[in-house]
Amino acid sequence: MLKSYNYSALGSQELQKLITRNADSSNEIGTAVEEIIAEVRTNGDKALLNYAQKFDKVNLSSLFIGFEEIQELASQVEEHEQKALEKAFYNIHKFHLEQLKDEAKVETTSGVTCWRELRPIERVGLYVPGGSAVLPSTFLMLGIPAKIAGCKEIVVCSPPQKNGSINSYIAYCALLLGIKKVYLIGGAQAVAAMAYGTESIPKVDKIFGPGNQYVTKAKTIIQSTTNTAIDMPAGPSEVLVIADSSANPTFVAADLLAQAEHGADSQAVLVSDSQQLIDEVNKQLCLQLDELPRKEIAAKAIENSYAVVTGNLTEAMQFSNLYAPEHLIIETDNYEQLIPEIINAGSVFLGHLTPESAGDYASGTNHTLPTSGYARSYSGVSVDSFVKKITFQHISKAGIKNLGPTVEILAELEGLKAHANAVTVRMKEL
Ligand code: NAD
Repeated sequence: MLKSYNYSALGSQELQKLITRNADSSNEIGTAVEEIIAEVRTNGDKALLNYAQKFDKVNLSSLFIGFEEIQELASQVEEHEQKALEKAFYNIHKFHLEQLKDEAKVETTSGVTCWRELRPIERVGLYVPGGSAVLPSTFLMLGIPAKIAGCKEIVVCSPPQKNGSINSYIAYCALLLGIKKVYLIGGAQAVAAMAYGTESIPKVDKIFGPGNQYVTKAKTIIQSTTNTAIDMPAGPSEVLVIADSSANPTFVAADLLAQAEHGADSQAVLVSDSQQLIDEVNKQLCLQLDELPRKEIAAKAIENSYAVVTGNLTEAMQFSNLYAPEHLIIETDNYEQLIPEIINAGSVFLGHLTPESAGDYASGTNHTLPTSGYARSYSGVSVDSFVKKITFQHISKAGIKNLGPTVEILAELEGLKAHANAVTVRMKEL
């Protein structure tokens, strides 16, 4: 049963409290992660092997599996599963390929041409979560744009499973992506290893991928303490569903639970102008929860979730923009009218027949998305995340004549004589 709040009765402090996720106010996670990062920096591979034992309960003889083992594991995937992974690969690839676009050259002043060219980030690190559930889908979501961008070196880390290896679906995705090695490292230690490098793990320029609170905290720390960048803070998953009386309560409950089963710290929020719909969704939640294999995890997440009753759908959208959800599902007949009102969201699912699971796996959009309100300022992963856009310019004889005097005046007014001279000496030669 979802806790329920009335939007019009919420003061600004209550609103702030409601939209805050996984605050780690006592910095417990931060302290643990800082220790892990320091340990990996000092002891490299040895620290990684110790953490595999401590957190993943496995004694590793090697920190990676190579191509032969990948091939062997991949051969265990059944044909219908192979086909499903291939279909997902195809759709994700098709959607992301469109993102690789050249930009036109622009002549800003006669003889002055400026443009941008894309260059791939050379060394990237992909984190594929594998704690409470192994997510081969995340491997595709990160690996496909990295390949399309043309990244030279792709380092992949995923937590070792109890047998000291990766699961066969991750192996099959590695084959689809042409990746020949997977490092058996999870959590904050994987992020630290890719940011600093160890004897076995190459240092990378940018780290990508979602993960639990340890992974996400590690990414935010290394972002400010090393020269390795990150895609975004992509932590425990969350969904916000806006639904009105036209919605099907069975669908809405299923969507909330799809998010809740990710982890106890996931959050599923229902915002509706219909109290009757909220009541019906609550009934459905009880029925459907009972049937789930991961019902204990989902039930904990539902305890951490809530419903908000609003006066109308514009208010519902106002709340959603404040919350800035990773996933926003709009289950109303008139979803098109609400699109212009969306300001903050990671990925949006429109209409009664568009479950978020479709985007999680196979419709084509990326599922690595900003959580915890970061959708206010970050986009989800795309091909753009794997490239740099370098600006170029060329100035001809006519161009320096046309633009030179402007630059000289601006340099003089800033008191930067050498800047002005760099133009003046050229103008004199013309
Ligand atoms: P994970 O791979 O993120 O984390 C597992 C690792 O966490 C373990 O290998 C271990 O090293 C480490 N760990 C576990 N307990 C620890 C402890 N007490 N101290 C230090 N380290 C510890 O897998 P997960 O836990 O299943 O989490 C996956 C997360 O990814 C979920 O929260 C899910 O919601 C999220 N997710 C987010 C997105 C997104 O785009 N935002 C997409 C998919 C999944």
